[in-house]
Amino acid sequence: MSKFEVTVLGASGGPDVGETQCFLIRPFGWHGLESVCVDGGAGTTQISRMLAGELRVGLIESFYERDYEPVNQFFDSDVQVRPGLSDSTLHALDSSPRITSYRSAKVYESIKGYYVTHPHLDHIAAMVVDSPLIFNSPKPMAKTIWGLPFTTSAIERFIFNDSIWPNLIHGGGQRLKTESLTDQIATTNPTFTHIEITPFRVSHGKGAYSPREKIFSTVYLFRDITTDHCIIICGDMEPDSDEPLLSNLCSYLAARVPLHKIKAIIVECSSPIDTKELYGHMSPTRLVEELSHLQNVYGCEQRPDMDVIITHVKGHCSFKDPRLVILNEVRQEAQRFGLEGIRFSVAVKGYTFYL
Ligand SMILES: [Zn+2]
Ligand SMILES: [Zn+2]
Repeated sequence: MSKFEVTVLGASGGPDVGETQCFLIRPFGWHGLESVCVDGGAGTTQISRMLAGELRVGLIESFYERDYEPVNQFFDSDVQVRPGLSDSTLHALDSSPRITSYRSAKVYESIKGYYVTHPHLDHIAAMVVDSPLIFNSPKPMAKTIWGLPFTTSAIERFIFNDSIWPNLIHGGGQRLKTESLTDQIATTNPTFTHIEITPFRVSHGKGAYSPREKIFSTVYLFRDITTDHCIIICGDMEPDSDEPLLSNLCSYLAARVPLHKIKAIIVECSSPIDTKELYGHMSPTRLVEELSHLQNVYGCEQRPDMDVIITHVKGHCSFKDPRLVILNEVRQEAQRFGLEGIRFSVAVKGYTFYL
């Protein structure tokens, strides 16, 4: 039985402007239109496209070997995933006029806030550019940008500062606000009061100009407190180097959540195995090593039964779709490491996973 609906508004790791990481999340079967997002790299444009039914049935845009590839290449045969917004969202829109811009605005209105993993542009661009809609709507609407302090302070200082973008946070009468979270401290979402969300700081490499500067990102744990079912959604990240961040996350999980309750991990894997410089990101080998570490922390008496959904693949000039190259490499590495009980798929924009 699914516990969460995760609609992929964007899953690219660049350079696809407007199609970068954003996941719209709701408890499974939620009756209203409400949602929260993890990251905001994509937004209303993608929502409108989904409502207009722009997706080709059974085919996924690729623009490599062929311009469209069969959908089954991207998903494990047992994962529950369908094109478009979730059935419950479409049901909640039933009484709205069948005008795409109107319905899209209703879905946007109902995004209660964004849990941002880190303030890089590919994770916030559409959230920022869509933000004036908060003030144009006839219906009063408010949104919160949640994040660890390094994220919320950068968004306030460097984005909504009247120079890069109008300061809608301090000049917007509380309709757009930031709220800082604390590392490893769970908070209940104000809309979905049975969902607890915990942020974990992780490493995302070093500064390009000043390599001594550490760059951080966030992993979010969503837990249904009535059933203990969880999904984990990762921002950009790399394995631990000088601080035990991912390993603390594994210990935290092992101490609090039975392994079979983790329904899915949505995790970045930006580049294929043969990439020389990863710039603070994961590769198929690194990813499988981390999954293997998680399994080891739990011990062999607990077996996973989860979907791992790969996101943030970087587009580049190549013959084969890098998402399919990486998915294939991850599956091979998982076999080499003897990982069992994990189904691997790729996050594809315009599709909803039922997890
Ligand atoms: Zn990124
Ligand atoms: Zn980043």
